Amino acid sequence: MSGASAEQLLGKHQGEDWRARFLDISDLIEILRDCIIDDEYTIPDDLNEAIILTSRGNALKSRLIRKEEVPAKEAHLMCALTLGHDELFVDIEATDPKALSSSIGRQLRDGAIRFPFIYSRDLYDLFADLFEEEKDYLSSEETMRLLQAIPCGVFQYGRYIIGPSGLTEAQSGRALRFSKRVPAFHCSDPVCRDLHSVVFSTGHNAEINSQQHKLVRYLESLETPEADWTGLAMELNNLSETHFGDHWIAPMVTLLGDCLGLEELRTLIAELGDSQPIGERPELLEMAPWHSDQTIAAALDKLVLAGEIVVPEGEVRAPISTGHLRSGAYRLQPQLGSQGVRFVSGDPGLPTLRQRELIRKLYLSGNDDDRHELD
Ligand SMILES: [Zn+2]
Repeated sequence: MSGASAEQLLGKHQGEDWRARFLDISDLIEILRDCIIDDEYTIPDDLNEAIILTSRGNALKSRLIRKEEVPAKEAHLMCALTLGHDELFVDIEATDPKALSSSIGRQLRDGAIRFPFIYSRDLYDLFADLFEEEKDYLSSEETMRLLQAIPCGVFQYGRYIIGPSGLTEAQSGRALRFSKRVPAFHCSDPVCRDLHSVVFSTGHNAEINSQQHKLVRYLESLETPEADWTGLAMELNNLSETHFGDHWIAPMVTLLGDCLGLEELRTLIAELGDSQPIGERPELLEMAPWHSDQTIAAALDKLVLAGEIVVPEGEVRAPISTGHLRSGAYRLQPQLGSQGVRFVSGDPGLPTLRQRELIRKLYLSGNDDDRHELD
């Protein structure tokens, strides 16, 4: 027996307000799930106070405290991070996304929760300085050593942009999520050109992580199957729709972060409307996701064609450090050349599909004259 599907959950939750709130809260909870903490992490009160549990969540919380000897604060947050099972553990109407995001933002600024800056070469150079040998995996202590020496990362979960200034809200949603597997080094094999990845670890000894298995074990023992809450969030984000899209869903931010010089990045941010952009790469990059990928690509095209960003003929710039962050079914990657931005797929069939789509748009829109011209 399987639990409620994303479609069934969609049917059950029709209200626009509820849906928007659910999306915000589930994105914020994803940020908490993905971030890196050290072993000393303690849960701040403002975080737990922002998250209100449903009666189901509260029953689970008190069970964890009574039967599993989980500390109260950890029990509360563990239920929240799980979001729900057959029913939600987090009360979507009563939880305040603003309070939750302000607590996460403060913890990002304080460095209590971290994301690494993966663009350009900061991480690559530091990795080479810190570790003499090739490594597939970093312990929590090694991860923290690395993270403390590089700037705060720039990512986006739904409307929420993670960056050096904490958490800001963009006008439109985007999925630019952090995965703990990060490209970091070249190996000693002289013919291998791959950028190899290392896996970061979060503080497994922090109470919130070390107690987690008790909740997992309990949920697995339940008779009732789990509903697809993650699927619901994906449906609401229209991720399944954009997954097969052609343009504009490639993560433009990777192109800016990896392929523009600091001055070029400043010129672009100014072109996008931020009159006096200041700061280094992370601060500048944090301002870009405010704008849609279409807007960013159009601004970049304009600057390249006007010669304000000089890309000589024949030069093609492609993300390296973030070359793994491609998007959609066609694994699109943004690249920059002398004619501006393009989105490249490794799939050899895509150009034909694109050409067919172009012809359809130009000629087959129901106008007979157009059709005759095509003939
Ligand atoms: Zn290699």
